[in-house]
Amino acid sequence: MSQKKRIYLSSPHMSGHEQKYINEAFEQNWIAPLGPNVDAFERTLADYCGVDHAAALSSGTAALHLALIMLGVKEGDEVFVSTFTFSATVNPIVYQGATPVFIDSENETWNMDPALLEKALEERKSSKRMPKAIIVVHLYGMPAKMDEIMAVADGYGIPVIEDAAEALGSRYNGRPVASFGKMAILSFNGNKIITTSGGGALLSDDEELIKEARFLATQARDPAPHYQHSRIGYNYRLSNVLAGIGRGQMEVIDERVTKRRENYFYYRENLGRYEGISFPDEPDDKFFSNRWLTTILVDPVKTGVSREDIYEYLEKENIESRPLWKPMHLQPVFSGYPRYLNGTSEYLFKYGLCLPSGSNMDEFTRERVINIIKGVLKNK
Ligand SMILES: *Cc1c(COP(=O)(O)O)cnc(C)c1O
Repeated sequence: MSQKKRIYLSSPHMSGHEQKYINEAFEQNWIAPLGPNVDAFERTLADYCGVDHAAALSSGTAALHLALIMLGVKEGDEVFVSTFTFSATVNPIVYQGATPVFIDSENETWNMDPALLEKALEERKSSKRMPKAIIVVHLYGMPAKMDEIMAVADGYGIPVIEDAAEALGSRYNGRPVASFGKMAILSFNGNKIITTSGGGALLSDDEELIKEARFLATQARDPAPHYQHSRIGYNYRLSNVLAGIGRGQMEVIDERVTKRRENYFYYRENLGRYEGISFPDEPDDKFFSNRWLTTILVDPVKTGVSREDIYEYLEKENIESRPLWKPMHLQPVFSGYPRYLNGTSEYLFKYGLCLPSGSNMDEFTRERVINIIKGVLKNK
């Protein structure tokens, strides 16, 4: 085994200002949930994403769960969702006893294919059983084709929830992602572009929805001095201490995006010339990806090496890499659910690899990664 320092896919990167906000919380004894850091963090998030309101929550998963609850998703309902994603996108649908219907990707952005979405809705129309919601994911930071998706969804009057957990700082048509759907969610888990150690947010232009989300997230207490409850509540709020980390992180979000994009272009410049190694470029200038993770596709015939070869060589050098997300329709836990497939996500899963992409990677670290990959490609 190599003694070299481990290089991670995406590790937390503090700005230095987080401590200031945490100290404020301690000085004012705002350790309990809610407080000035939560309020300020929510304001910053909403402004940055170009929406009117935000609720800071304990995770992105919690935000999705509340979004579905507020749209009335319940047992027997269907929710259409990208199959090419992380399981947290889908789990809340099942929490509600509803049925996820998996929609495959198109091969330009790797996100939900608007044509397949339309086909699936078309079929539902004839059976008179429309989905309650559509969850569109902006995977690895790449915006989905929102013009097309919103046109289809609006045509059928189905609300869209954007899963922008990986895409804070990405834009489409010059507009931040998370500002297109009826609601959107963000995640501040430890590996995301900014982190609060753990946390998430729900975003919307609809003030009533965000108020309702805050209400449900704090145990759904009716406005009465005694504890009275007319609805089932959740304990999903973000603590004021963690929101302090988020405030410090939001001060440097644009620097983080710039750095992640630099990583992408660095990899592309150094590996793009190898036949059989390809990169998911932005399809045109409508798309601006935060490049949360740089990903490559490895054609084993053209390169003479497999994705596994590269993965294993990197691991030997104590460098973390990871196959692209295993599509949800291939997951044992979701095996029985309906799906609309075109082969794209299965292809991506078979040949794709995520490379170390942290905004805290220096020149030397990136070179270490590149040299290993070049070595693998040359030896074959
Ligand atoms: C991280 C992530 C989530 C879940 O966010 P948590 O804050 O970890 O609950 C949801 N969807 C996608 C695509 C993610 O990458």
